[in-house]
Amino acid sequence: MRPSPRLLSLLAPVLIGGIYFLAASISLILSRFEGGIAFIWGANALLMAQLLTSQRIYWFRAILACALASAVSTALFGMGPAAAIPMMLMNMAESLAVAMICRHYASGRNIMVALVPLAIFVGALCGVNALAGLGSALVASHLTSVSFGASWLQWYWGHVLGGLICTPVLVMLMQGEWSRWFRATSPRLRLEALGLLLLLGGVTCYIFYQDRYPLLFVPLLPLVIISFRAGHHGAAASIIVLATVGGATSALSDGYLSSIAVSPGAKTQFFQIYLAFSFLLSLPVAAELNGRRRLFQMLRESEARYRIIAEHCGDMVLNLGTDGRIGYASPSVLEQIGCAPSLLIGQPAADLIHPKDRALVAAACRRALEKPRDIHRVEFRLLRAVDDLDWYEMVARAVMDEQDDATGIVCTIRDMSRHKARQHALQQVASHDSLTGAASRRAFLERLEMEIGRLGGRDQSCLLLLDLDHFKAVNDSHGHAAGDRVLAAFVERLKPGLRSKDCIGRLGGEEFAILLADMDIHRASAVCERLRRMVADEPVHLSTGQSVTVTFSAGLVELDGVANAAAMLEAADKALYRAKNSGRNCLHLAA
Ligand code: GH3
Ligand code: MG
Ligand code: MG
Repeated sequence: MRPSPRLLSLLAPVLIGGIYFLAASISLILSRFEGGIAFIWGANALLMAQLLTSQRIYWFRAILACALASAVSTALFGMGPAAAIPMMLMNMAESLAVAMICRHYASGRNIMVALVPLAIFVGALCGVNALAGLGSALVASHLTSVSFGASWLQWYWGHVLGGLICTPVLVMLMQGEWSRWFRATSPRLRLEALGLLLLLGGVTCYIFYQDRYPLLFVPLLPLVIISFRAGHHGAAASIIVLATVGGATSALSDGYLSSIAVSPGAKTQFFQIYLAFSFLLSLPVAAELNGRRRLFQMLRESEARYRIIAEHCGDMVLNLGTDGRIGYASPSVLEQIGCAPSLLIGQPAADLIHPKDRALVAAACRRALEKPRDIHRVEFRLLRAVDDLDWYEMVARAVMDEQDDATGIVCTIRDMSRHKARQHALQQVASHDSLTGAASRRAFLERLEMEIGRLGGRDQSCLLLLDLDHFKAVNDSHGHAAGDRVLAAFVERLKPGLRSKDCIGRLGGEEFAILLADMDIHRASAVCERLRRMVADEPVHLSTGQSVTVTFSAGLVELDGVANAAAMLEAADKALYRAKNSGRNCLHLAA
């Protein structure tokens, strides 16, 4: 049965307090070489690791448990009951301050896996202990015969080195890093790491066992190799091996450490410094490597994503160098422009583009290189473009190097022909009357405005306004559908009498307008007369077998290139009104 979370949260402080008590007591029993402060102090590392890896709501009970453990162990095995409370306060203050600094400045990032959090941790440890050491040295120099300066040094080295060596390892342990590493690593790499650790253990055992040569540099080689191969897990495991094998060998034999002629305290400090420097040598290597490994993994994922998009989407994907030459072309190039991608490599991309659009595309590429963080779009035609709808859209973005300088361009090229054709079709629908095929009212008025603007004072073009006579009667006697048929036939009838540059528009109902471009009013009158006869002489045949003859009345005005479209229409309408009043089926000129 698994213990409940509530039970665990109650047990955790008891456990942490118990281990703290053990670690503190062993340090005090074994390393108070001069009767004052202990030379070895790993207990605070335990509390720091706990604070660094747990939520703040659990901090109070962890600190309380460790405070109790610290006070009792100092009272029993350290400088006695008088020192218990002040030493406990110093220990708690140190652990809490370091944890708060790391949490604040390294924003909770693991101190093992990146350089900046590690540097923050080391800085905090050194700074906080310089201050905490002052208080502790004051207590020790009062209660024991050890001087203030010596006590400060003993606290400082013991706590800094103990924290440095033990905290990262304990953080990893508490975060379940070891089991994660074990699960995520292949058996081959696990075996390799084990072999390297055994080698390190053997080498360490030997160099601490012998006392002829100072060979302390030798384990550094396997240490760095392990860091390279197994990252920060390897670095942490190496320090454990180095500390336990080196410490045990020195304790059990008259090895290299005993041959140094200094006090036991100084030897312990020396050994701790050795361990700390070894750790500081391997940890940054591992942290940097870790960062690169993550980057490499991200790169591989992004590369896989890019490949699948580039090789399986219909758009063409090109990589261009800063000189505009093609470095990569996706397989869809074959389908889109009928050229094998391999043939394009090394060719200038400009060669694929219609000469008229080259400057436009080159400008977009230049912009992409100048503003590498932005996306740049440009529409262009390929060299083989056959009509005006053969358009492509290029979306380009620069590729940047470590210094954020552009080293090339990656672009996707999409066939816009269908989009353009649809746009064109929509434009057609919007600009034409669906029943008769004549220009819509809006399109005709635009055309008229354009023509007035084009004339600019030269009066040559004419506007003709037409209205079918008694059209209501057609609807009434033959039905609305027949009326529609007549309207469509009416426009069909007119078209052969017009030139391509003329424009016929349906202004509404059975009212139409014709723009007769480059034509004076005399010729326009003649044209109108011809149209009138064409319509009046030829009846429209209906599907019922009946036929209808329609006539129209018309007003004609000459465009003076000054008055606007509304004024021209009004003048033509007045003429049309007069034509209606004078009996219909005739033309009147504007006054
Ligand atoms: P007038 O000689 O004075 O122009 O007489 P009219 O009957 O032609 O003129 P009126 O303005 O009285 O009637 C126009 C008619 O045109 C009325 C309307 O039902 C018909 N009409 C307008 N638009 C359409 C259409 O799209 N289809 C059909 N079938 N008839 C239409
Ligand atoms: Mg009318
Ligand atoms: Mg009418």
